[in-house]
Amino acid sequence: MTIRHHLSDPLMMAYAAGELPEAFSLVVATHVSLCNECRAALAGFEAVGGAVLDASPAAGISDHCLQATLARLGQPDPAPVVTPRKRGTLPSPLQDYVGGDVDRVKWRSIGMGVRQAILPTGPGGSARLLHIPAGQSVPDHGHRGLELTLVLQGAFRDDCDRFGPGDVEIATEALDHTPVAEAGQDCICLAATDARLRFKNLIPRLAQPFFRI
Ligand code: ZN
Ligand code: ZN
Repeated sequence: MTIRHHLSDPLMMAYAAGELPEAFSLVVATHVSLCNECRAALAGFEAVGGAVLDASPAAGISDHCLQATLARLGQPDPAPVVTPRKRGTLPSPLQDYVGGDVDRVKWRSIGMGVRQAILPTGPGGSARLLHIPAGQSVPDHGHRGLELTLVLQGAFRDDCDRFGPGDVEIATEALDHTPVAEAGQDCICLAATDARLRFKNLIPRLAQPFFRI
């Protein structure tokens, strides 16, 4: 897998600091599980974050915090964020959300052959898997906030470039685009947004509330 489009430094810093909404964290964790370059960069940001914490003055903690820490002693460590690669189309962080690989995804049609599955993430953003038939386009749209799209299978092109497996497109309010899945293999991506999209045409606009896009 040759990855050409990577995460930005601000995204990885926010992830390392635990400041991203869960939907965006899922995209970062999934890309990092596929990309050695971003995994190394993230380790650097985490080391810097740890050094900053070490240098900060100690903050007072509540009795509850001490009790909670004592209660956890002797219990197994929580699972690490980046888990080893599992076999299949979906990388490990996503398989944990779906409860398995693509065959476990509960797809729902959103028209023109495109299917989506909304993933259960916390407030501040929403994450979905999209299945776009080869050669099919997604309606022309703009963004009110940030949209991260990570390709898991196949590829798509839009007004900016071509995005293949492992690539992340970072779309902001400045970008309007019409993603089109390449001919050949159906495209499966993970997309996260923190605001509703702006569709140019009436039909997708009317359908938006039903599909929570
Ligand atoms: Zn990368
Ligand atoms: Zn978009």
